[in-house]
Amino acid sequence: MRYVSTRGQAPALEFGDVLLTGLASDGGLYVPESWPSFSLADFVERFGPDASYATLAVEVMWPYVEGSVERPDFERIVAASYETFSNDSVVPLVDLGGNTHLAELFHGPTLAFKDVALQLVGRLFDYELAKRGEAVTIVAATSGDTGSAAIDAVRDREAVDIFVLHPHERTSPLQRRQMTTVVAPNVHNIAVEGTFDDCQDLVKAMFADDDFRDSVHMSAVNSINWARVMAQIVYYFWAALQLGRINQPTAFAVPTGNFGNVFAGYCARRMGLDVAQFVVGSNTNDILTRFFESGEMTITAVEPTFSPSMDIQISSNLERLLFELHSRNGEAVAELFATFRETGSVSIDPYKLGALRETWDAARLNNEDTLEVIRATYAETDEVLDPHTAVGVGAAQQVRRFGAVPMVVLATAHPAKFPAAIHEAIGSDPPVPAQLAHIGDLDEHFEVLPNDLATVQAYIRARSRVSR
Ligand SMILES: *Cc1c(COP(=O)(O)O)cnc(C)c1O
Repeated sequence: MRYVSTRGQAPALEFGDVLLTGLASDGGLYVPESWPSFSLADFVERFGPDASYATLAVEVMWPYVEGSVERPDFERIVAASYETFSNDSVVPLVDLGGNTHLAELFHGPTLAFKDVALQLVGRLFDYELAKRGEAVTIVAATSGDTGSAAIDAVRDREAVDIFVLHPHERTSPLQRRQMTTVVAPNVHNIAVEGTFDDCQDLVKAMFADDDFRDSVHMSAVNSINWARVMAQIVYYFWAALQLGRINQPTAFAVPTGNFGNVFAGYCARRMGLDVAQFVVGSNTNDILTRFFESGEMTITAVEPTFSPSMDIQISSNLERLLFELHSRNGEAVAELFATFRETGSVSIDPYKLGALRETWDAARLNNEDTLEVIRATYAETDEVLDPHTAVGVGAAQQVRRFGAVPMVVLATAHPAKFPAAIHEAIGSDPPVPAQLAHIGDLDEHFEVLPNDLATVQAYIRARSRVSR
């Protein structure tokens, strides 16, 4: 499989290069040159209806990595990635009643859905780097979930050092502890005296600094990395399989930020999964919901909400959908984003919007709506939803089209990660899972640094094992 850029100018690459490169050199995102097909019916015939998540994962992803990864190595890497999950079925389905089901994506080491992709991506990085005899330094900015999932994915790996920048005293204590209590020689936490935006700006500036980037072999594992999207395709097929929807449609509702998670659902559909409807759920940072309503994508300021991992200004992965919507015309996409960069706004024509809305709907929930969904769901089903998942459940309630088609809501975080919102909604604390039980007793390791590029660069240079 080869990969092409959504802006049509960068060279086509193999999987291994796409994995390590992230963003294409023309500013676009890599997508597979063609969509492989996958039949759940054939899968069940070969492996039976009770095949494991890892078995399905290998089959779904194989066409995307073939040629870059050896088959036995891939099987071993996939198995090891999902052995880190505390639930035997990796992604269990929970019946909420009313033909609605949760697909619980949060049983990984850091209790958020990003583990599903990053546990695999960390191991693939190590594999690809070992093959090349290279090493990299990953530098990432986080406001919470991504940092801990990335740290857990690469801790103790030979070929990767990771430096995670978080805004000093501006993350939740629990989220900070999930990062800073990890003890590994290749893991470094930096608390920047500034905001999350400052952290992001520092990372961008380091990437733009050729000298620095080359000297530490800087790399990223951000949400535009194709390998992350690829790993997320699997659970759409998995959910349909668990519900016995082999040749019948399923609907999905997805709490959405950067659009990576729900775009993976689109990929599953292109591979042959029968999807009746996609529901995109936003919080008050609703650039996506506005886009699906009007065809116009316009930047506004970010407001903090109870679902912080969806507090985004731009949904970077939407570019991949726009590429498909423009019949894979990279020039048209490049033009679209040039306009967007200039004016902060861009629209698609009504014909394209109409085509999109044949399967896509979107809805938004503010903080109050979100708490109400948590409260009502708990009262009716005894299930405690985290605030992100609640946005998905509430969005599905607002715009669901087919009562007779099972609605799968992707549950993206364990409620214990957001105790304050849960307490406000239901008046008691969520149950604490084993992964967090002792986190309050562990020592924290992080360095507080000023919001200053040279200082942070010097810190990283001095500690990166690949620094030269
Ligand atoms: C990252 C994240 C999201 C948003 O996922 P995208 O792929 O950015 O759309 C939703 N919920 C949780 C808990 C997350 O960590």
